[in-house]
Amino acid sequence: MTPILDIRTLVLIYVGVTIGQAVVLVYLWSVQRNYPPAKDWAIGSLMMAIGLFLFALRNLAPVVLTEIVSNLFLLPGLMLFNFGIVKATDRKPPLKLGLALCTVANGLLAWFTVGAPNYPASVLIQSAVFLAFDLYTAHACLTTRTARGNHTFRIIGIVFVVLTIVCSWRVAGGVFDLTFSLSPTLPRLLWIATSLISFPMLTVLLTLHTSQRLQDEIHAQARRDTLTDAYNRRALIEFADKEWSRSVRHDYPLSILSVDIDHFKNFNDQHGHQTGDVALVQVSKAAQAALRSDDFWCRYGGEEFIALLPNTTKEQAMAVAERLRQAVENTTISSPHGSLSVSVSIGVAERSSNHSSLSEVLAISDAALYRAKTAGRNRVFADGD
Ligand code: GH3
Ligand code: MG
Ligand code: MG
Repeated sequence: MTPILDIRTLVLIYVGVTIGQAVVLVYLWSVQRNYPPAKDWAIGSLMMAIGLFLFALRNLAPVVLTEIVSNLFLLPGLMLFNFGIVKATDRKPPLKLGLALCTVANGLLAWFTVGAPNYPASVLIQSAVFLAFDLYTAHACLTTRTARGNHTFRIIGIVFVVLTIVCSWRVAGGVFDLTFSLSPTLPRLLWIATSLISFPMLTVLLTLHTSQRLQDEIHAQARRDTLTDAYNRRALIEFADKEWSRSVRHDYPLSILSVDIDHFKNFNDQHGHQTGDVALVQVSKAAQAALRSDDFWCRYGGEEFIALLPNTTKEQAMAVAERLRQAVENTTISSPHGSLSVSVSIGVAERSSNHSSLSEVLAISDAALYRAKTAGRNRVFADGD
């Protein structure tokens, strides 16, 4: 059977695709400088493109260049590219082990090229390294839990599984039929064809993952207060919506704390706005530490905070509020004038079946807060006190 394309034409097409991939990934790196995996994808794919280009010069350039130098780029390039993907799944790839594998493989490849020339052995060694890296990456992508955009990683994982299967076939071809030649045998053809399809797919998927990640980051930032890093009002509305319906549906208690710093205007006037900002950060931190991980803490406005306590009755919320009040009172705020302290007043309210929205409960906790203020501040008052 006469093949439609000879192996060199195929490899040259492969080189072209890899160069295109490298250009896109280097550009991705330039716009995503603070995302470490993007750097690995860019440098890795550039090295792979150089390695493949040298590889394509087989029989045209000295064997040292096409068989030895090419693999010096190809294998570490593939490792870097794959390890970048593993990093994106929030794992730490074994860089030293990977480099050791590349070094041993490159040594053997050099030996089987110039020491004791053995072409099938070279193909086997090269394929085995590809196989190891692809298998590891497939595993990392398919088992990731923490990485965002899990569906994207699932597809990337499947691409690597396909690459692994095709590469295994190529290795098996080498084991059972040691007659590799420059003619495009089926496993080899299939391997190149699969790579040709997979690499552009991977480039698109990695770009998609990066944009998903950026979107998540922007969404997370939009829900945070820039000064204290507590949640903001927008996040409160989202969280309250969910918690309110859960509490109504399952008849769980839900309580609110309205927290306001006492005499904060005086504090600012005496110690300056900057120290006031430090105090806001410290108060928020101390209060958050006094809450449970399921509780929600947000900066509602200037020096006013709201805590939403799911599955918490008014009595339990009073105890939490008292703990929070003490935590703030015991917090020292460092300033140019020495250590300072502030206090908070807290109003507590619990949702009841008469309430139809969170704002009704908020009005009650606000009224309790007001009473705590008029009763002398630095205290906790509840609905009905
Ligand atoms: P009260 O005990 O009745 O709550 O008195 P207060 O002085 O705390 O209340 P008031 O509402 O009169 O003043 C709130 C102050 O909070 C005034 C404002 O300058 C300060 N403030 C609001 N947001 C910020 C901020 O982001 N940084 C700083 N430093 N101060 C802020
Ligand atoms: Mg105040
Ligand atoms: Mg206030």
